[in-house]
Amino acid sequence: AGETGKTRIHQLDENTVARIAAGEVVERPASAVKELLENSLDAGATRVEVAVEAGGTDSIRVTDDGHGMTEADLRAAVRQHTTSKITDLEDLESGVETLGFRGEALHTIGSVSKLTIRSRPRADRVDGEPPTGTELVYEGGEVLSVKPTGCPEGTTVEVTDLFYNTPARRKFLKTTATEFAHVNRIVTRYALANPDVAVSLSHDGREVFATTGQGDLLAAILAVYGRDVAQSMIAVDADEDLPVGPLEAISGTVSHPETNRSSREYLATYVNGRAVTSSAIREGIMDAYGGQLGGNRYPFVVLFLEVPGDAVDVNVHPRKREVRFDDDDAVRRAVQSAVEDALLEHGLLRSRAPRG
Ligand code: ADP
Ligand code: MG
Repeated sequence: AGETGKTRIHQLDENTVARIAAGEVVERPASAVKELLENSLDAGATRVEVAVEAGGTDSIRVTDDGHGMTEADLRAAVRQHTTSKITDLEDLESGVETLGFRGEALHTIGSVSKLTIRSRPRADRVDGEPPTGTELVYEGGEVLSVKPTGCPEGTTVEVTDLFYNTPARRKFLKTTATEFAHVNRIVTRYALANPDVAVSLSHDGREVFATTGQGDLLAAILAVYGRDVAQSMIAVDADEDLPVGPLEAISGTVSHPETNRSSREYLATYVNGRAVTSSAIREGIMDAYGGQLGGNRYPFVVLFLEVPGDAVDVNVHPRKREVRFDDDDAVRRAVQSAVEDALLEHGLLRSRAPRG
């Protein structure tokens, strides 16, 4: 007796679960921008336009010329845990080439916003009939409509009224300026890492920057940070000749010590192509500059580290960018050495800083 009695424990409905979980992936407009931008890059885009209104709190629109989606793709894409990028854990362990793989971004963003996706697959992706465009409207976790539409090849995702149905989270958004600063930093990170993709960002209808997609890293830096910064950059290139320790290569560029800012935000660091933050990398950079920067000043840095695939865990939480290495200290020393060599070569260091 009593085994079939009443319980106060019940299962949450799918929509409630999705909205609660959304907070884990989409913290603010910039997190949605990151997911949409990654999807565009994963789709092989050569051009990605990001346009936001009111720091992304009113709307976010990301347009790409990537491989696009069919109507069936679109319907599948907004469901929970749906992805075209991996099939099982083995795929993940053997090293994913795409930025995404969790299959949760569109579903999650769509559960806390109004989402409109317009897409047309590239002609070579479908056989037979020339492909047409489809528009799917998704709101608060429900598909509202799916209909044919005229649109160019590629995909446009528009997110409006983010967190309209999660007022507590909406309340935690900061000022438009702060939210836009986060968006700007994210788009900048991806623009710098993909100089072969034309990436543009606009805010309230005004263009903030646009890379050409035809240049190298320096051209992207010129477009994003301007001429003064671009002219002060020094190449970093360390491979077999240098003690890169557990790393396969370190490359990129760092600024002349006199070109510095009072914010860490201009330290753009990447591991195997993914934007990350790492105290080991940051300390290695700062140690290389020694006392040349002054208190609380940071250089402009765009640094790409390559590490063996099994030496880094990509399966980190979408919101966490801080990576840890097996041997943080060896990474720190390798970065310090590579940056020092670049600065020394330009006569910008009196001598090597003592190795800590
Ligand atoms: P994930 O990127 O982890 O696979 P998402 O929810 O971000 O999950 O996207 C789901 C799927 O929708 C992707 O796997 C991809 O097939 C498709 N998709 C999303 N955005 C685009 C895009 N901009 N262009 C083409 N396909 C896309
Ligand atoms: Mg994705």
